[in-house]
Amino acid sequence: MLRKTSTLLVILLFVLMPTASYAASFTVRVIYFLPIDTSAAPNVDAKIDRLVKSAQKFFANEMERHGYGRKTFTLETNAKGKIVVHHVKGRFSRAYYQTINQTKSELPKQFVNQNNISLILLEGNQFHELLENKFCGKGGDWINGVTFYSGTALVPASGPCFNASVIAHELGHTFGLRHNFENHRYLMGTGSDLLAPCEAEWLNEHHYFNKTKILNNAPKVTRRYEPQAEVNNKIRLKVVLEDPDGLYHVHFYVTDNLELIGYQSLNGERDTAEVVVHRSKLRNYKELYLQPMDLNGNYYIYNIPIRSLPDSIDPEPIVREKSPPQMPDFSYLKNIDVDGNGLVNVADLDIVISNLGKNIKEDADTNPDVNRDGIVTQTDVDLIIKQLNAAAAPTAPKVPKQTQLLPNYPNPFNPETWIPYQLAAPTNVRVHIYEASGTLVRSLTPGHQPAGIYQHRSRAIYWDGKNAMGESVASGVYFYTLTAGDFTGTRKMLIRK
Ligand SMILES: [Zn+2]
Repeated sequence: MLRKTSTLLVILLFVLMPTASYAASFTVRVIYFLPIDTSAAPNVDAKIDRLVKSAQKFFANEMERHGYGRKTFTLETNAKGKIVVHHVKGRFSRAYYQTINQTKSELPKQFVNQNNISLILLEGNQFHELLENKFCGKGGDWINGVTFYSGTALVPASGPCFNASVIAHELGHTFGLRHNFENHRYLMGTGSDLLAPCEAEWLNEHHYFNKTKILNNAPKVTRRYEPQAEVNNKIRLKVVLEDPDGLYHVHFYVTDNLELIGYQSLNGERDTAEVVVHRSKLRNYKELYLQPMDLNGNYYIYNIPIRSLPDSIDPEPIVREKSPPQMPDFSYLKNIDVDGNGLVNVADLDIVISNLGKNIKEDADTNPDVNRDGIVTQTDVDLIIKQLNAAAAPTAPKVPKQTQLLPNYPNPFNPETWIPYQLAAPTNVRVHIYEASGTLVRSLTPGHQPAGIYQHRSRAIYWDGKNAMGESVASGVYFYTLTAGDFTGTRKMLIRK
C-alpha cells in the first residue's frame, strides 16, 4: 500500500487573544487550492464531498466502536448539506507548492483563525513524487501561545494520495494526534482502518469533537519531573502534573518521528504520569514530548529532557540528579604523534587523512587510529586538528567576553552547514531552525557546554539540512535561533539546491 504521510508541523503562531476564556464552535473548512497553471478537475467538488465525508464518518465509526458515541468533527456545509468547498487560486505554478505555509499564506485572511482547521486540497501536485516518494500529505496543529486551537492539513487533490484515509490521517494530526505504529491497521501509522483506544480517548475531549468547549487562555500545566532511572537501556520517566481545570489525558512521543510511546488517563487537579522508553527509540534525541490535555480540551506540548543521557538539558530545572564531575579524556594525546618523530604537525594529519576508513591493528607501528577504536575516522582527524589549533594559538583568550551566535558556514549551503557560537559562561545551548514563515523545522540540542569558542567543525553545531522527520528541507531562507542561558540570537541562512 501507499505510504501515508507524515510531517507533523507544530507551528508557533502567536496571536493576540482576549484574556478571558470563551466558548466557541470549531469547524473544519475545506479549500480547493489551484496553482496558477492548473484548472479545476471536472466534478471535483462532488468528489471532495464524498472523500471528506468519508473521513468524517471514519472518526464517527471509530469513536462509536470505542464507546464514545458517534463523535466526529464538524464540516462547513451549505443548506443542502454539501460541504462548502472554497476554490482558491494560487499565485504560483504547481512546482512551487510543497509546504503547508506556501498554500496557507495565500488563503484569504479570514480563513485562518482560531476556530477553524483548514483542509487544503492541492490540485496538480502529487507530493509523494516530490517528497522522495515518502509523504502523501502534511498536517499539523497550531498554537496561540498557550494551547492548541487550530490547524492545517495539506493533501493532493489528485493522484493516488487523494483518498479518505490520507485526509483522515492528516486531519488526525491537526487534532493533536501524532504517529502510532503499534498496529499495522492504525490510521496514525501506516494503516487506514483503526483508531487506537488512546486516540479515541484523546478526541473525546478535543474541542473539535465537541459542540462547545471552553478554550482557556490561562492554564499551563505545571510539571515536576521525578529523577529518571535507566535499567537495561529502558529509561523510566515520571512527571507530576497539575492543572486547576482538571487533568484528563497525556500522550508521550519520541521527538524524532513523533511516534507514540505511551499514554495515560489522568484524574483530578494533580496526577502522576509515567512512561518507559527504550533508548533505541530515542535515536540521537535527548528529549521526549509530553502532551497533556485538560478537561476543557486544552492541550500543549512540553519537552522532557532525558537526564540520564550525557549532554541532556533542562530548560526548567526542578529536580536535579547529582552526578560525579566528568573528567575530560586526554588519553588520545599520547597517540597523536602518529609518525613518532616527536612533533605533532601536519605530517601526522596527512597520515590520518590518507588512512580514513581503514581498520588498524592496535599494535601497528605507525598507528593513525588516534582514539584506538579500531578504525580511522573523522574523529581521529579532529583530535589532531584540535591539538594543532591549541598549539598554534597558545595566547588566544580561552573565555570570550560575550556570548554570541556566529554566522553559519558554509552559507549558502547544500546540504549541510555548521553553526558556530561562543559562550562567556557555561550554560545550556540549543538551536531552533525556522522556515521564513516561522514554522519550526528542527531543534538541535548540544546541551550543557563549558565557556569557550565553538567555531571549528568539531565544536560548532552541525545541521544536516533535514527536518525533525529526517526529510531534506526545501531551498530557501531559514532562520536559526541560539538560546544559551539568558542569551538569544537569530541569524539567517540560505539553502541553495
Ligand atoms: Zn503523519
